[in-house]
Amino acid sequence: MVQVLIVGAGYGGVMAARRLERANYPFTLINKHSYHQFITWLHEAAGGRNDINDYKMELREILPRETTTLIKDEVTGIDREARKVVGRRDSYSYDYVILALGSAPEYFGIEGLAQNSLLLRSVDTAQAIREHIEKQFAAYPGDPRDERLCIVIGGAGLTGIELIGELTDWLPKLCARYKIDRDKPRIINLEAAPSILPVLPSALQQKAREVLEKKGAQLRTGAKIVRVDPGHVHLESGEDIVSETIIWTGGVRAHPALAQAGFTCDPRGRAKVNPYLQSVDDDHVYIIGDCASFQSGNRPLPPTAQLATQMGWVAGGNVAAQIKGQPLAEFVPKILGTLASLGREVGVGSVGSVQTSGIVAGVAKELTKVKYLYQLGGLKMVRRGSKALTRERV
Ligand SMILES: Cc1cc2nc3c(=O)[nH]c(=O)nc-3n(C[C@H](O)[C@H](O)[C@H](O)COP(=O)(O)OP(=O)(O)OC[C@H]3O[C@@H](n4cnc5c(N)ncnc54)[C@H](O)[C@@H]3O)c2cc1C
Repeated sequence: MVQVLIVGAGYGGVMAARRLERANYPFTLINKHSYHQFITWLHEAAGGRNDINDYKMELREILPRETTTLIKDEVTGIDREARKVVGRRDSYSYDYVILALGSAPEYFGIEGLAQNSLLLRSVDTAQAIREHIEKQFAAYPGDPRDERLCIVIGGAGLTGIELIGELTDWLPKLCARYKIDRDKPRIINLEAAPSILPVLPSALQQKAREVLEKKGAQLRTGAKIVRVDPGHVHLESGEDIVSETIIWTGGVRAHPALAQAGFTCDPRGRAKVNPYLQSVDDDHVYIIGDCASFQSGNRPLPPTAQLATQMGWVAGGNVAAQIKGQPLAEFVPKILGTLASLGREVGVGSVGSVQTSGIVAGVAKELTKVKYLYQLGGLKMVRRGSKALTRERV
């Protein structure tokens, strides 16, 4: 029997697995956790909306076939010569492997940033942010230091902006709970680039800025962080911002396992793939999602769930085709648009050539969740995941 492995059960890995199940092909999926995480919704989890457990789903629920083997293990290396994936618990041989390990934070060499900041990357880190902020608010009445209520968010891409939107809705509730003046908390966004949300047209960037500033956030572009000490963010301008909550959302690079295994990588550590999503170094290795460097025009595709999902579907189909000696499909990316939520009700974004903002964009963003759940497993999965679709339960 030909051994097929998928490594990583995020947006790319799970969709590759769904495709292989549909092709009736047995395979083994290795993932650090027994569950799939809804990473694109994590700003909600960090910002106090809904129960943390609503943002993950057991893999067996998504991949029910008995022929699908699920293994919980953390991969520590890939032995390309021996065609083995090495984990903490065991090592796993393959004839074909789909690598979908996702990303790691990119700190751009900023001194002290890794040691002194929180990240938003997983259900666990979302929970850590949520608990940390709540702890600061709970402690403030007894120890009223302003830095307890100052939240600094580095990076104004989708992750940072969506997190700010959630926090602007959540902080007034925390103020009410801990009897704190509503004007006391500060949310400061620091972005080195000249604009926020670079993936959106400038009219929508402006709209997002207006909405978030009206909700009380400070958005500072051209503000370059040069060093972070415990409780202090130092800017290139010489300014020192004092804050007990520093969250970094400023960038990602590929999971380090790809470069460590010697795959040909781009400067962000993403392994280069051909039009069929095979590694340029080995046509038995498929690489998808945030760890793949797929050239589109003169630059690699951006790391998004939308593209990871599409790549997973194509890679799963191509592995099944390659085993049967059938022709492979080229990956043709379809960028359907980008939507950013700006809190529980409103958003901004573009879908095709249509630009939208306000409640319409907020509702459109919610609909992308329904679409993803449907892709994962039809109406059954939409019903199952519906807890995280509600506007507010906590
Ligand atoms: C808060 C937030 C909001 C976002 N919003 C959007 C959005 O609106 N739209 C959009 O398109 N994209 C969005 N993104 C980006 C999107 O989440 C990623 O591009 C997407 O998750 C990439 O999919 P992937 O399959 O490559 O990796 P992931 O989904 O990260 O999956 C990687 C998997 O590998 C597992 N893994 C990692 N290391 C190991 C290991 N050593 N051993 C075993 N398993 C391992 C992980 O547990 C995970 O299951 C957002 C990201 C964040 C953080």
